Amino acid sequence: MIDPEVLEYYLDQLQNNNYNPAARYLEGIKAASSIQNALEQMAEILHCDPDELIVTSGATESINTALKGIAFSPNPKHQRILTTAAEHAATSEVLKYLKESDDFQIDQMDLDAKGLVKVEQFAHHLKQHSYDLITAIYVNNVTGAILPVKELTDSRNRLQPSVPIHLDAVQALGKIPLNLTKLGIELASFSLHKIGAPKGIGLLYKAKNTRILPLLHGGGQQHQLRSGTENPALVNTAAFAMARAYHNLEKTNRHLRSLKNYFYEKLDAAGVNYQKISADLESEAVPEIIAIAFPELRAEPLLNILARQGIGVSIGSACSSRKSEQSNVLKSLHLANQLERHVLRISLASSNTEEEISRLVENLANALAKYAIK
Ligand code: PLP
Repeated sequence: MIDPEVLEYYLDQLQNNNYNPAARYLEGIKAASSIQNALEQMAEILHCDPDELIVTSGATESINTALKGIAFSPNPKHQRILTTAAEHAATSEVLKYLKESDDFQIDQMDLDAKGLVKVEQFAHHLKQHSYDLITAIYVNNVTGAILPVKELTDSRNRLQPSVPIHLDAVQALGKIPLNLTKLGIELASFSLHKIGAPKGIGLLYKAKNTRILPLLHGGGQQHQLRSGTENPALVNTAAFAMARAYHNLEKTNRHLRSLKNYFYEKLDAAGVNYQKISADLESEAVPEIIAIAFPELRAEPLLNILARQGIGVSIGSACSSRKSEQSNVLKSLHLANQLERHVLRISLASSNTEEEISRLVENLANALAKYAIK
């Protein structure tokens, strides 16, 4: 359900700010200036210039625009892209397309058992080959692992300064503070509906001096990079939702971190046998995503048992579990004894309470006591 305050704001925007921002009459000019205001607000939160933000329909479009926009540009090409083995389908399917249709060589970096990229391996790749693009997921949607972006950009700056870095930053937005300028990356993709905006809006950050070809051609809106009538009500509502997400960030993260610790304490107290997948350190994983394996029972039956109790957990990422994408991410961790089949992904929300965590643990413990294969 959309947050009532966001809904109220959106309804007001739809009633009062639904003119075409390209129109020359007064309402159109006001609509255009409201979009500029919204972009300025979002740019302030993301620490970039408003002109560096392109509004899209969501991260899938942003990622497609970034990756194809670089791959199809007429710059000298090495036909080579560096990525990780744990990308969301919105990235991995684009790379597969570029590989099959345009003969791109795609190199994948492995991850450690907690889903973290090894910076030495990144440097090793850059020493071996020349790339057109590096693209990586900033916060992994299955493990919560945080990419050490600053270390990667520093290494890139030393070894191959002209190769642009794109981040799939969907799961980073609203979960960690973002300073795009300081990070030193060239492109980043976001879904604003992931942080409480109505569905169908995302952003692509493109640093000023980075050149890409547009995916959509037409009326030339948004600096010729994303044609199509802009939606002032939606852009303003997204800026409102982003401001809310960032206003409460520290408080929310403190709460989620304490719930995550509480979850493990309760599991220990109940004597449950588990293996942590998500990293513990604050700098290595966001608190709202917990990937955890129960070696004595596969994740699928466990998920069904919990679902019958009205507890929603997943074994795949919510937005594309039909494609069993989680298994790609988990496979990349190279867990022993097919442990990836035992991994549950628990997603915590700021509205969750200790009582709910206790109920989850109780149900997990009961299910394991009844069905565990020892
Ligand atoms: N990247 C990540 C990490 C995601 O979690 C998602 C969807 O949840 C996407 C990309 C695709 O975003 P969208 O479906 O909003 O286009």
